[in-house]
Amino acid sequence: MKSATTVLAMAEIQALGWQARWVGELDHGLLRAPSVKLRSARCGRKGDVVYGVDLRVCRPNADQYLSTTALHSLEHVLLEGLQRHLPEHFISVGVMGCQTGFYLVFLNEGRAEVLCDVLAEIFAELLDATEVPYQHSEQCGNYRNHDLRQAQDVARRILQARARWLEAT
Ligand SMILES: [Zn+2]
Repeated sequence: MKSATTVLAMAEIQALGWQARWVGELDHGLLRAPSVKLRSARCGRKGDVVYGVDLRVCRPNADQYLSTTALHSLEHVLLEGLQRHLPEHFISVGVMGCQTGFYLVFLNEGRAEVLCDVLAEIFAELLDATEVPYQHSEQCGNYRNHDLRQAQDVARRILQARARWLEAT
């Protein structure tokens, strides 16, 4: 039986602007941050492609982690911003339980520069924001656990590293 999904070929991954050797799971001791890395690219039977992208904000096991508050507020910022900028492609955002970054999922948009440009725009917008998106009790399961300033400080640090985002190790 034909498999439901296949993994995108190395050449296709390179053409999207990613280093094929960095796709998938890497030794966390080698990872650098802030960085944006393709985790997976799965092609469905009808030709749609689902991309899993890691936005790594803190270097793993380096004694510097996002606070649960910053993680939570940035999750809201990414949810709102990616839905708005990529309404046809954005599927979901999840926090890394290790508090070092975020899992992003996209449908049929896996170009590294397009995704990085959108992320840069979202973080730049956050620097001028006056509140965290969806921060009220009707929209959030822990609405007191937000801090705009903390999220902005992290965004500033991510933006300062923009030139090296695609260097995963
Ligand atoms: Zn929430």
